[in-house]
Amino acid sequence: MKKLFEDLGKLPDICPHCDAEDRWEWGDTDYAIDTCWQIVTCLECETVFHEIYELTKWEKIKLK
Ligand SMILES: [Zn+2]
Repeated sequence: MKKLFEDLGKLPDICPHCDAEDRWEWGDTDYAIDTCWQIVTCLECETVFHEIYELTKWEKIKLK
């Protein structure tokens, strides 16, 4: 059974569903204006997570 979890904060070292250690498969990323997220799957129990990233600052990399 697959179940989607959203925004657990930092991805834990241990799967919150089955307690497997460090068994992640990293999938596709997607973007919005101020956030992006990546699909992460536990290889033990196949639970699917969204690891969510939030914009924290801007950094200029080219002066015009
Ligand atoms: Zn798991």
